[in-house]
Amino acid sequence: MPPARVLFLAATLGGIGFAVFSVMTAPPPLWGALAAAGLYVAIVLAGVFVLRLRMFADAVIRGPAGARGVVLTFDDGPDPVHTQRVLDILDEHGAKATFFVIGKKVDKHPDVVKEIVARGHEVGVHGWAHDRLFALRGPRRVRRDLARAIRSLERVTKRRPTLFRPPVGHTNPTIARVAEQLELTVVGWSAAGYDGLGGADARKVAARITRGLDDGDIVLLHDAAERGDHEPTAAKSLPEILAAAKDKNLRVARLGDWVTALES
Ligand SMILES: [Zn+2]
Repeated sequence: MPPARVLFLAATLGGIGFAVFSVMTAPPPLWGALAAAGLYVAIVLAGVFVLRLRMFADAVIRGPAGARGVVLTFDDGPDPVHTQRVLDILDEHGAKATFFVIGKKVDKHPDVVKEIVARGHEVGVHGWAHDRLFALRGPRRVRRDLARAIRSLERVTKRRPTLFRPPVGHTNPTIARVAEQLELTVVGWSAAGYDGLGGADARKVAARITRGLDDGDIVLLHDAAERGDHEPTAAKSLPEILAAAKDKNLRVARLGDWVTALES
């Protein structure tokens, strides 16, 4: 069990014990109760925001032990212009990647998704609406969004997707449970370039990713701006990232192979 989940369970049990003890003996001083509540909220929020802690979901963050090479993932597409450019660069380098697509964009640009698949890449779901407040939604709404995202992608690819990257990377017990019910593997990342923001510098993005790049890393990039309102830097930094990987003797691996190895 990931250490963060052990901490969460221990804190939950501790909190219940604290409450029972307080009811049975004397109420704790106000500062003590507030400090305990504050600590608990801080632990839960860390779990919601930091997917790699794996507090709530058994997310795939890195390749299996002994994995060779790195995996490239692209979020927030498909985009008729920018996804195309990323696909061309990947082809030039003979590299395959995984695209976590937004359901409503899939409905708008099904041909781009078909092209991603035709060129030999994998696709996974990234929510239908890419709801920034996904972690605050109830189970029905989370389920409806993910089921709709699955349907959108299945309609275009004729295959049911099995990979899922939560919108903005947030997870909680509800998202983890619904993903499991829908047989989706939650996928995180171990190397991010913070390229999703408008005005991100392509060289800095490449440097952030390549600095400690090593076997087993899952790289997070964006082939589209979340709201389509700026030019993503991924296409500009990708050649540099691929060249650095080659220099480090890191081949580009397939996410599906790693997930299969981790789940077997
Ligand atoms: Zn996203």
